[in-house]
Amino acid sequence: MRGLRVGGFDALEFDGFNGIRKLLLEGLHFRQATALIKDDLVQLVVLVLQMGKVHFNLFQPFREFIVHEMIVIGLCRKAKCDFTGGVSGKQNVKLTARLLDEHVQRLRACVLCPAMHKPVVSGGAVMSKVLLVGQAPGDKEPIMGRPFAWTAGKTLFKWFNDVAGMSEVQFRASIYMAAVCRCFPGKKPTGGDRVPSPIEVQTCSGWLKREMEILKPELVIPVGKLAIEQFIPPRKLDEIIGRKMRVTYAGHEFDLIPLPHPSGASPWHRMEPGKTLLNQALKKIAEHPAFKELS
Ligand code: SF4
Repeated sequence: MRGLRVGGFDALEFDGFNGIRKLLLEGLHFRQATALIKDDLVQLVVLVLQMGKVHFNLFQPFREFIVHEMIVIGLCRKAKCDFTGGVSGKQNVKLTARLLDEHVQRLRACVLCPAMHKPVVSGGAVMSKVLLVGQAPGDKEPIMGRPFAWTAGKTLFKWFNDVAGMSEVQFRASIYMAAVCRCFPGKKPTGGDRVPSPIEVQTCSGWLKREMEILKPELVIPVGKLAIEQFIPPRKLDEIIGRKMRVTYAGHEFDLIPLPHPSGASPWHRMEPGKTLLNQALKKIAEHPAFKELS
């Protein structure tokens, strides 16, 4: 007998549902099956996971619930489910908005890394096909309650204003702002911000992967080396800034246009060839169809 924890539900022992599974597999209509399992829909999630590839039309009207629970437990992709199949554009937008909203609520409550300072910093549930990935917040961002809220942010938003004509307000309202780690790591004993540990990076990547699943971005803009290295192997900034690359991450394919970190810690973007390459990168972003659609 096996047990499973799904979302906020207690462990389920599903040996007893083999009969239901058999009925579904034999093509019995879903309504007849639900009559047997009453309204305990979470059992269906277990069935979906057991069945692998699924045609969700079979599970109307409970598809949204199943998708939500599967995303919560991070198994939707593993189960190879086509969770948008058959959903109209309007419903799909509504579903994505709800999933993203719930995702951000869970992210803000995250306490997975004991050494990270709270609160979690999030840019909010902005529905967008463009995703910006920062490194980790500094000490001011948790107080201000938003990413890139201090000096590095001023430089970053100036870049976008100067080259793409997008103000900070427009940027925050139209681009989803993610990060490698969403909490301030604290200061090093020697001064400066602590670099997140590999375990913290790995732990926090679960949030980024779910954002990829929910938003399916067409353009991702990683800012700074730590963020860039989540998507491509480590290389010199001279070799990657100013370029557009096709990248797959968490099973999702998109264009990647990296940017250097705008903090004053490195002079790279203020000297040649950094200045020219940064300008090229910003122009490529401004010309990208997903970015153009934002305005
Ligand atoms: S860094 Fe990420 S995974 Fe760690 S506590 Fe903060 S939000 Fe959670």
